[in-house]
Amino acid sequence: MSYLARHERYQTMQYQRTGRSGLKLPTISLGLWHNFGDTTLIDNSRTLLRHAFDRGITHFDLANNYGPPPGSAEENFGRILREDFRPYRDELIISTKAGYTMWEGPYGDWGSRKYLIASLDQSLHRMGLDYVDIFYHHRPDPETPLEETMGALNQLVRQGKALYIGLSNYRPERAAEAFALLREMGTPCLIHQPKFSMLERTPEQGLLQVLQQEGVGCIAFSPLAGGILTDRYLNGIPHDSRAASGSRFLSQEALTQDKMTKVRRLNALAEKRKQKLSQMALAWVLNHAQITSVLIGASKTAQIDDAVSMLTNRDFTHDELALIDEITT
Ligand code: NDP
Repeated sequence: MSYLARHERYQTMQYQRTGRSGLKLPTISLGLWHNFGDTTLIDNSRTLLRHAFDRGITHFDLANNYGPPPGSAEENFGRILREDFRPYRDELIISTKAGYTMWEGPYGDWGSRKYLIASLDQSLHRMGLDYVDIFYHHRPDPETPLEETMGALNQLVRQGKALYIGLSNYRPERAAEAFALLREMGTPCLIHQPKFSMLERTPEQGLLQVLQQEGVGCIAFSPLAGGILTDRYLNGIPHDSRAASGSRFLSQEALTQDKMTKVRRLNALAEKRKQKLSQMALAWVLNHAQITSVLIGASKTAQIDDAVSMLTNRDFTHDELALIDEITT
């Protein structure tokens, strides 16, 4: 049956301005890194996207290499977009990226003009889109001149293939250099996408400050540390979890005793706050003024509901923040 979006979809979600731009993003965004490739039934992926949009999640984040196999998340998303979301295209912020290995040979990786321009053309083709809302350079390239990479991003905006530009995984100094180049070209950087959670606090050491000064937004990826900062692993490793899937990004060995001790202490604090650990983890990231949105992954619709319910319990006391610092740093 054709999809009709929920009428009340804009009533609960909050939307925040992205840096000093004109664009607002939902406080919670959905990433398609896992659960959208060819190894997931397309109906599950479709259900997740519909459920998210019905709750006001207007931003879906992809990359050229999401799958498996690489490219399949964009293809599957393109199909669902065509079949379900066509009438809603102007209500959506769709992002994709290039920067990691995508195809063989010297032109399918890193940050050359050749790679970025060819890759976005491929992504648009896979998704059946004329343009993406945000195009990211996925990781810094130590060998290509920054002028070339930023020049390619600027060119894609000029050509109308991307509305805004983002950077991901750049360190503060390199990010600041890139922001200056983009500004000179007349295409200010919209947003930075770093890994940021209670267990990954590197952005607090300089990056957030640079973003604040530069008026660039920030969307935090893996705010739940891939599921570690949830109740998922409190009593072992469920068979349907990421850690049980053989993922090289979340191995069972990563769930060390030391880490799980921290997680249990954080969970006790979340219980005191009358919320789930996953909700406290998202609220904690959002408690940083520079954060525009938390970019979650989900394998089940209930996980999206958990995230949205967090919005009614986002504030922390000084003591709670101090305890989180004591546990996690
Ligand atoms: P999260 O840290 O949000 O982890 C998501 C996983 O946590 C889910 O797949 C699920 O795992 C589990 N989970 C989520 N909610 C709950 C809940 N309420 N209760 C219990 N478990 C829960 O983010 P991801 O690591 O998935 O990354 C999110 C997005 O960030 C990606 O899709 C991508 O768009 C982006 N990203 C960007 C990168 C970059 O380099 N720029 C790198 C990595 C990600 P389970 O499968 O076990 O149910």
